Amino acid sequence: MSIHIPYGRQTIDESDAKAVLDALRSDWLTQGPRVPEFEKALAAYCGARHAVAVANGTAALQAAYAAAGFKTGDEFVTAPLTFAATATAGLWQGARPIFADVDENGNLDPEAVEKALTPRTRAIVPVDFAGRPAQLPALRAIARARGIPLIEDACHALGADSQGRKIGSCADMTVFSFHPVKSITTGEGGAILTDDDALRGGLERFRQHGIVRGEDWEYAVEEQALNYRLTDFQAALGSSQLRRLDDFIARRRAIARRYHEAFAGWEEVETPPGPVDDSAWHLYVLRLRGRASGLRRAVFRALRNAGVGVQVHYIPVYWHPLYQRLGYRRGLCPKAESLYERILSLPIYPTLTEAQQGEVVRAVRAAVESCFKSGAGQ
Ligand SMILES: *Cc1c(COP(=O)(O)O)cnc(C)c1O
Repeated sequence: MSIHIPYGRQTIDESDAKAVLDALRSDWLTQGPRVPEFEKALAAYCGARHAVAVANGTAALQAAYAAAGFKTGDEFVTAPLTFAATATAGLWQGARPIFADVDENGNLDPEAVEKALTPRTRAIVPVDFAGRPAQLPALRAIARARGIPLIEDACHALGADSQGRKIGSCADMTVFSFHPVKSITTGEGGAILTDDDALRGGLERFRQHGIVRGEDWEYAVEEQALNYRLTDFQAALGSSQLRRLDDFIARRRAIARRYHEAFAGWEEVETPPGPVDDSAWHLYVLRLRGRASGLRRAVFRALRNAGVGVQVHYIPVYWHPLYQRLGYRRGLCPKAESLYERILSLPIYPTLTEAQQGEVVRAVRAAVESCFKSGAGQ
């Protein structure tokens, strides 16, 4: 059966379509007024002073690392359970990611971070795994004590709250992605939020050829940089989506609550820990346990065969061939690795209906049971 319930997808309505059409019919397809409008609205939503919009989340990470002054030989401490871009964007700036192990949420463990610090550490880069904020106050304290920035990869967490503060206002720089599966979308897109004027300047230069404007026709290329701009029609979509962000998050939280209830009391699965109401629920990561914990591949295949688009987030970054060639070895972060072995991301997105969700829950039940019967994983 083909996949009819994906693990994530965008929510687009007529107001989004109209906003994009208006932008397309305006004088500006790029470098017009809609980008700063989107940046202002995003910064205001998050309670940050500045937002700098860029071409995608990966570009946003690279820009943040550049603005933080990463150079060859530097290190940054980050989480292994993330999309590879968190680490690889740092490689592009010449720095080496140091992977520290995770807590029960799959987020950076502050104690492991302390142990990973060296004189070359230039930043701490937590990832808000699945939309659940990392232990930001503790990580921020470690970064402060070292005089290095906390750069939060919040690509999963736009709309989440950390102890009453919106994500986007909790780190020196916060990175978002607007890929279609994320909290809001611009197709491709990303942004960095900061309160710091100097960092903002660095981010804006990195987005646009390292250029500083002068008088009349004059401009100076001050730094080696790229074109990482977002277009105006994308920014128009972003502003339109942002108006519905709270509704999207409320729907994701309602879905998470229903999964929690549906799976409560099952011996074979463990639901994601922590309160429902601070996470942005980018992912609903179910954990197989007990006699089911060795069955992940079989359960994954059975669900895919039933048309349910499950996924696995993530293969530990340093298991990838690139990182193996760079000398990272398996076993580096045992907690992340053992969590990886038993996780499965179930469909979660604002337009997922209760009927579809019921189908997913029944499919998980059927998949687990059929795997026991066939002796898979033994
Ligand atoms: C999506 C994502 C990125 C990259 O964002 P793109 O917009 O796809 O480039 C980086 N880090 C994490 C954790 C992500 O989920």
